[in-house]
Amino acid sequence: MAIYVCPLCGYEYDPQNGDPENGIPEGTEFEDLPEDFVCPLCGAAKEEFEKQDNDEDDDR
Ligand SMILES: [Zn+2]
Repeated sequence: MAIYVCPLCGYEYDPQNGDPENGIPEGTEFEDLPEDFVCPLCGAAKEEFEKQDNDEDDDR
């Protein structure tokens, strides 16, 4: 499962953890999040998130 990162504040969405505080059960793929999902920290839209690939996550 891919981790997605908010480019604005650095929040990481990890599908293994989900976001229970916001009603997202663990094991929920980022792709399966509702379209109105927003970053719980800064409110960035789902479309702002960037996929974090293991190979290319070192350009910050
Ligand atoms: Zn954010």
